[in-house]
Amino acid sequence: MESNYDVIIAGASNSGGMAACAAAEKGAKVLLIDKMGDSKYLYRSSIAAVNSNAQKKAGIKIDKAKLINFLTLFAQSNVDQRLLWKWVNNSAETVNWLEDNILKPNGGHIMAQPDAGYETLINTAFPVENVIANADDTDWAHYGSWVINKAQELGVTLQYNTKLEDLITDDEGKVIGIVASDRQSGQKTKYYANKGVIICTGGYGGNKSLMAKWNPFGLKKNVYSDGPRDDGSGILAGLRVGAARDEEPAETIFDRGGVKVGTNAEDHYVVDYRGFGYFWLGSYPFLKVNLQGERFGNESEPYQFDINSAAKQPGYLEAVIWNEEIMNHLEQFHTLGCSRLNWPGIYDTEGAKAEVQRRLDDGTAQKADSIEKLAAKLQLPERNLVRSVERYNQLCQNKEDSDFGKEPYRMFPIEKGPYYGIILGGRLLATLDGLRINTNMQVIDKKGNAIPHLYAAGNASGGFFWGSYPDRVPGLACSRAQTFGRLAGKNAADN
Ligand SMILES: Cc1cc2nc3c(=O)[nH]c(=O)nc-3n(C[C@H](O)[C@H](O)[C@H](O)COP(=O)(O)OP(=O)(O)OC[C@H]3O[C@@H](n4cnc5c(N)ncnc54)[C@H](O)[C@@H]3O)c2cc1C
Repeated sequence: MESNYDVIIAGASNSGGMAACAAAEKGAKVLLIDKMGDSKYLYRSSIAAVNSNAQKKAGIKIDKAKLINFLTLFAQSNVDQRLLWKWVNNSAETVNWLEDNILKPNGGHIMAQPDAGYETLINTAFPVENVIANADDTDWAHYGSWVINKAQELGVTLQYNTKLEDLITDDEGKVIGIVASDRQSGQKTKYYANKGVIICTGGYGGNKSLMAKWNPFGLKKNVYSDGPRDDGSGILAGLRVGAARDEEPAETIFDRGGVKVGTNAEDHYVVDYRGFGYFWLGSYPFLKVNLQGERFGNESEPYQFDINSAAKQPGYLEAVIWNEEIMNHLEQFHTLGCSRLNWPGIYDTEGAKAEVQRRLDDGTAQKADSIEKLAAKLQLPERNLVRSVERYNQLCQNKEDSDFGKEPYRMFPIEKGPYYGIILGGRLLATLDGLRINTNMQVIDKKGNAIPHLYAAGNASGGFFWGSYPDRVPGLACSRAQTFGRLAGKNAADN
């Protein structure tokens, strides 16, 4: 196996695949490694962009300054605004490249999603979503293999089952290569890069001890991590050569983590990709109560906010309460992003009902013919739950949520049985804090100086998010990864 390259990229997912194609298009000799045997399924279908060709065709126009102000406000300015502008000015080029070079030659295309929420401040959204679609407009074209094929067509050497262990530096601190290990044999090999190394290894949500160190509250709020590969190894390699790191955590969490009654959220953190207890309807603004059976807020809020507020309640969990009838009116809730019903969302009504049945079968959801019996099954105080449901139904009849201000069209009474309930915690999709970078995607040290020939992109990099994920800008995580991956690839190849 050849050991000398121009550019070496660790991590072959959204940021790494795009970095590899961009560097190879510039004529660089590229090695792309990934510690696992495959990375194709990690390419996501919802990608944000600002004024992409597909958006222009759909008549969508987004005000860049307004969007950046929103993202800055959302993060209370705990971000590098220069990186936000870098993204906003380059996201369309990335999505257009993806559509022209990856999707169209394989029969796919991008569908811009014009729908966005405006009704309340907390749900105000931007129509930035570009959905990767198949030729027949069905959602979720599996384009990861197309990206990987394209990289190989461009001459990239792809090596799976190869893990970045360490970076090699010269006497001046310039990064000149990597030490990588073979997944099966454990054997370590040195590979050299004369133009640059790009860390695209994702976050650290699958590494419980790093979570305990860098995001301890995340361990309490989340009952699952859907990113088992995210061991933080690329971030750690960067730190060992003097990189700076975000000092506060950022994360993207779904309110879809169904757990069995009696689960202790503090101890429960299942790291897996198989979606145990997955409860998509958790993102619907049904009645939600705490473990004391009391309603505690407006359920009509972004995915992660729901979990943030539940995490401020005793036991860090909430219970979702609904009935059969509500499931026949899901379109009425008009949720956005990846909880949207039907096109281009994931499920339709039948799919949602089937998922409820799966949760009943695996013992996470509960069903009963009275609220009293449901309370018993969920181990919630019966009197409180009955009162909460009665009060909620009253508010629904009044068509005004004078307790918490939910939009009237999202208020649906829980009148006739059968009744359902599930205990819910967070699903950590990914951590979003990482190695500090400048606008050239170069990793910087604590003084702000670039570490020569070291780049990072995607969830291994930082400065872009803080705290919760702004899911009102749907597809931003993937778009940051792909846009910055592409820029890192180009910049490294230019050295
Ligand atoms: C179920 C799910 C759905 C999602 N849907 C969306 C969506 O629709 N839109 C959106 O914007 N975001 C979505 N996200 C988030 C999005 O997937 C991530 O933000 C994005 O994948 C980050 O890309 P990345 O390239 O930085 O890292 P990752 O996709 O995490 O990939 C990192 C890669 O590096 C490899 N790796 C790790 N360590 C090493 C090492 N030491 N050496 C070599 N290789 C290594 C891993 O095996 C992996 O292949 C979703 C997340 C999940 C879990």
